[in-house]
Amino acid sequence: LNKPKIVVLGAGYAGLTTTKRLLQKLSPEQAEIVLVNKHNYHYESTWLHEVAAGTINPNQARVMISDVINPNKVRLVYDSVVKINKDEQRVVLENSEIEYDYLVVGLGFESNDFGIKGMAEHAFAIEDIDSSRLISEHIEYQFAKYNNEENVEDESLHILVGGAGFTGIEFVGELADRVPELCKKYDIDRNRVKIINVEAAPSILPMFDKELVAYAKKSLEDRGVEIKIGAAISECTEEGFIVGDDKELIKAGTVVWTGGVKGSSVLGNSGFELTKGKVNVDADLRMKGEENIFVIGDCSWVWNKEADRPYPPTGQLAMQEADVVAANLAALLTNQPLTDFVFHDKGTVASLGISDGIGNIFNDYKLQGKAAAAMKKVVDNRSLFLMGGTKLVLKKGKFRPF
Ligand code: FAD
Ligand code: NAD
Repeated sequence: LNKPKIVVLGAGYAGLTTTKRLLQKLSPEQAEIVLVNKHNYHYESTWLHEVAAGTINPNQARVMISDVINPNKVRLVYDSVVKINKDEQRVVLENSEIEYDYLVVGLGFESNDFGIKGMAEHAFAIEDIDSSRLISEHIEYQFAKYNNEENVEDESLHILVGGAGFTGIEFVGELADRVPELCKKYDIDRNRVKIINVEAAPSILPMFDKELVAYAKKSLEDRGVEIKIGAAISECTEEGFIVGDDKELIKAGTVVWTGGVKGSSVLGNSGFELTKGKVNVDADLRMKGEENIFVIGDCSWVWNKEADRPYPPTGQLAMQEADVVAANLAALLTNQPLTDFVFHDKGTVASLGISDGIGNIFNDYKLQGKAAAAMKKVVDNRSLFLMGGTKLVLKKGKFRPF
């Protein structure tokens, strides 16, 4: 007898959590489960700023999928999704095709440069393990060559970061810790190095209250980060960013864009109707007008009725959505009613390097400094625990004292 086939696309927080929950909810007789991912590993996207700064080893942030999902229970396909053909219930992969009865799209985020001239060509972006590792290796190369080549410009040691949202701020926080290490390693005066963070809005991290923002700004500036607010980047050239009304050129040997994210380009390539690069879903997380396609994580546009705006894309949101999607798939298979998604906000913590941070947790309890940094590590280790239990926490967890 043919079992219904559930195909999950992407093994990020959204896809991997959905798969784990499906295994708990469904017996092998009830459905065939297939998980498709570009690589044979999952990576902790929330740690990518550390990979990009070189403060953790890329291997710490990745987990072999077969270590956390039993390949005897789920068919694991390591291939890239090119396109979803929903009329034929078929997914086109780079090397094959796969049919589905039910589809879960969890293909995650890509950097969004909003069409700014030169950004795609000249700036790095923090998108996955490979793009993040490239940034840390590029930075290290700038340091390694500084004292070994003739006519190296001082700007080669400057690191320019566009956007002071969460990613930009967490990244410069790590850089503030990494740069002194690199200076020591390559015998370079710290004063020769600049870390410059450029933000269009009048404040960094506007989602936090003024006190916490002021704390974060001071912590970063005290460790040598230059923050330029109210400075919109209009272009990226080979040399750096063009910023503000007076079109100032800020030069740097390393230029990184952290100005925003959008859903996977597979969505557009599949002809899906998009809202700001994402798929609009109903309260049960199904694509509008589709009975058998769920879209979650950074690919979906989910409305927060209370705040009257979409939820910001986060790992926390993706994992909670995954729980509901797995429950709704089980409900569909057993002719039960579907549940609407409700987000339970557990709070937000932003790191400012290895031993500093700010946060708002448990209904507005504010944290800063080492307490926030410690909480961030608890959150990071919890994420590993949810993926692979205590064994994974002991293998990849963050226990470095600070
Ligand atoms: P992703 O994590 O992007 O996973 C997508 C998966 O799909 C990946 O495995 C990828 O390899 C795979 N994939 C992509 N394209 C294809 C394809 N074409 N074919 C096959 N496979 C494909 N959120 C928080 O809640 N807390 C935080 O502290 C936090 N920190 C962050 C720090 C940084 C530096 C960044 C960049 C983001 C952070 N976020 C944080 C946001 C969070 O990482 C995202 O919201 C979350 O990763 C979304 O999960 P996802 O499963 O939808 O996508
Ligand atoms: P974001 O959209 O949150 O921030 C981008 C920043 O870039 C904004 O402050 C924006 O004003 C600025 N910007 C945009 N265009 C600009 C321009 N032309 N010139 C100068 N500045 C410009 O993007 P992000 O920081 O990558 O975060 C993406 C998502 O991931 C968010 O939902 C965020 O909540 C989540 N995230 C969460 C954490 C955490 O919880 N610790 C960490 C990282 C990311």
